[in-house]
Amino acid sequence: MSLEKPDPLDTALQQLTITAEKLGLDDGVHEILRHPKRALIVSIPVKLDNGEVKVFMGCRVQHNDARGPYKGGIRYHPEVTLSEVTALAMWMTWKCAIIDIPYGGAKGGVCCNPKEMSIGELERLTRRYTSMLLDFIGPYQDVPAPDVYTDAQTMAWIVDTYSRFKGYSVPEVATGKPIVIGGLLGREEATSRGVTFCVREATKHIKMPLKGSSVAVQGFGSVGWNAARILREMGCKIVAVSDSQGGIHDPKGVNPIAAFEHKEKTGSVLGFKGSEKITNEELLELKCDILVPAALENQITKANAAKIKAKILAEAANGPTTPEADTILREKGVFIIPDILANSGGVAASYFEWVQNLTRERWTEEEVNRKLEVKMVKAFDDVYELSKKQKVDMRTAALMLGVGRVAEAIKALGLWP
Ligand code: NAD
Repeated sequence: MSLEKPDPLDTALQQLTITAEKLGLDDGVHEILRHPKRALIVSIPVKLDNGEVKVFMGCRVQHNDARGPYKGGIRYHPEVTLSEVTALAMWMTWKCAIIDIPYGGAKGGVCCNPKEMSIGELERLTRRYTSMLLDFIGPYQDVPAPDVYTDAQTMAWIVDTYSRFKGYSVPEVATGKPIVIGGLLGREEATSRGVTFCVREATKHIKMPLKGSSVAVQGFGSVGWNAARILREMGCKIVAVSDSQGGIHDPKGVNPIAAFEHKEKTGSVLGFKGSEKITNEELLELKCDILVPAALENQITKANAAKIKAKILAEAANGPTTPEADTILREKGVFIIPDILANSGGVAASYFEWVQNLTRERWTEEEVNRKLEVKMVKAFDDVYELSKKQKVDMRTAALMLGVGRVAEAIKALGLWP
């Protein structure tokens, strides 16, 4: 991890300290929540295609399971650290509590560069890593899902490896699987759909019509492009989108489907017909009603926060706003939908997939979208009402709701022995 970025675990612990104070949390419960219940570090030997053996560091951090089995993604990235994975596990605990699904929080990671690995090497890595987690994961224990640079195929390898060891098929050991082995219809766009439900609810509160609102989306990957497409279906005008190479702007409106096809063909949204080229920084500062950061963390900082003109900031990405920027935006009156709420549609869909697998059912995409809407609107309303009642911003309210629900569960269970 580069030195100038804040350490996510420091941020997560600071957030917990502030939230515990606001909630008047019992000291013992606060102390329990500061530490993951269990962290497993493994050294994963993998035979590379050239015959050499390389050992990769992997981990799985289980933060808290007071509300149900651990749940969280597995990330493959060259900068994975135990500290980052621990912070992500803690955020998963709060996120599952905010969206009110019966899960605790966990996260896994392997320090590797998937872009430099063949499919065979990735499969061997995944299977060996899974074999080392066998006693720690399971449908009632800890249920992994995809995260950065892991996908449905990774989950299929996990399910297969776990099932071979058990001696019977256990599709419910992981979520985010291919549809053909019990994956959920609508899973691919669930995070984005969740973001758009939050945006719709936010416009009602600030009395801004959703129809006709202008939207800028930073990051045109899975979450960004689906959010742009669905917001356009809801009547918004997408005025700018971007990817890692830069952005495009068209005040008359960009058709996200055509821009996606252009990106598929050329590798970037740049050069899309009728649009003007802008930088990622310029995109954030554009005149628009709704800004959706859907790329990386730390994009909105104290350097550009004052220049942001959007009325609603919907944090589809994890951690796009630094704490200093957050203060500036709040003072400007921007309605912030915090990441922990805005992108929780992904884990809600994971929960639906798990329930679908455990009950051996198959739901239609319409059923999934209906269930997702109910969950997202309830979570949004719960956070909004708490923010009004406690006179705090939406991020603080979301944390208070999540941490508070986990603390109640810990108290109800009691401390054994
Ligand atoms: P992705 O890899 O599909 O897409 C990321 C996009 O960001 C790509 O278009 C990439 O070109 C672009 N990008 C990279 N660097 C950029 C930069 N400097 N400026 C602008 N764009 C840049 O990833 P994703 O699954 O869409 O995830 C995006 C964010 O949403 C991440 O923060 C992720 O943690 C978060 N998130 C995703 C999910 C999910 O279900 N996929 C769930 C919760 C949160």
